[in-house]
Amino acid sequence: MIEIKGVYKEFKGKSNNVEALKNINMHIEQGDIFGIIGLSGAGKSTLVRCINRLEEPTKGEVFIKDKNIMTLNSSELREMRKKIGMIFQHFNLLNSRTVAENIAYPMEIAKVPKEDRGKRIDELLKLVELEDKKDSYPSQLSGGQKQRVGIARALANHPDVLLCDEATSALDPKTTQSILKLLKKINETLGLTIVIITHEMEVIKQICTKVAVMEAGEVVESGPVPKVFAHP
Ligand code: ADP
Ligand code: ADP
Repeated sequence: MIEIKGVYKEFKGKSNNVEALKNINMHIEQGDIFGIIGLSGAGKSTLVRCINRLEEPTKGEVFIKDKNIMTLNSSELREMRKKIGMIFQHFNLLNSRTVAENIAYPMEIAKVPKEDRGKRIDELLKLVELEDKKDSYPSQLSGGQKQRVGIARALANHPDVLLCDEATSALDPKTTQSILKLLKKINETLGLTIVIITHEMEVIKQICTKVAVMEAGEVVESGPVPKVFAHP
């Protein structure tokens, strides 16, 4: 599904350069819930930004569904990004838009006909259990509810993969549980591949099938979660 081969990323600074990624190799299979864990500054965000090409690797290749994304032109890149859903720590909802309008946003960009949008919004609201909040504004929602909207929006265009960047870091433990449960349900019912970036071990243990541990730009350990986190 996602193949990362020998990826390096160097940020050039005035006085020094930062090697944010050093020879990253990763294989994420269809249907995985793949965790990437590491401390702040380990390179997790940079790696995910290389997957959707918001960041250009200095060296190396990224394949999504056997397609080398480093060779895509700008219109192919736009198509590819439609198939990658993203959710964020601070939700990134548009405050001037209702829940339904936020979910509609990626469909407007993808020029989905209006009548199809309405149907899809209702489906997604049902999936994330927010039917009664359709016409509410983000300011009227709890953190957990906002993230449910974020998830619905990310799924709007039927992505192949959902990238979650510290998606539960701003939530309390109980709300975190309910969001993780929802992600698991989405993985199981839609067979969607999910990539989870986190600094929280508990998140990985709860729902990930595989994990890569990052330290200072390198993957220092990876494999099935029970193996990587086995008790000695
Ligand atoms: P994480 O997501 O694990 O916290 P990041 O990928 O954000 O780590 O950062 C990895 C390293 O790259 C850090 O040292 C960070 O300061 C540096 N970095 C990230 N983005 C940039 C950038 N745009 N310019 C310069 N340095 C950056
Ligand atoms: P995250 O919480 O996702 O790791 P960060 O706070 O590390 O986010 O980074 C937020 C933004 O700032 C990102 O776009 C990242 O690329 C950029 N950034 C991070 N570190 C640096 C840095 N040292 N110099 C310039 N930009 C940076």
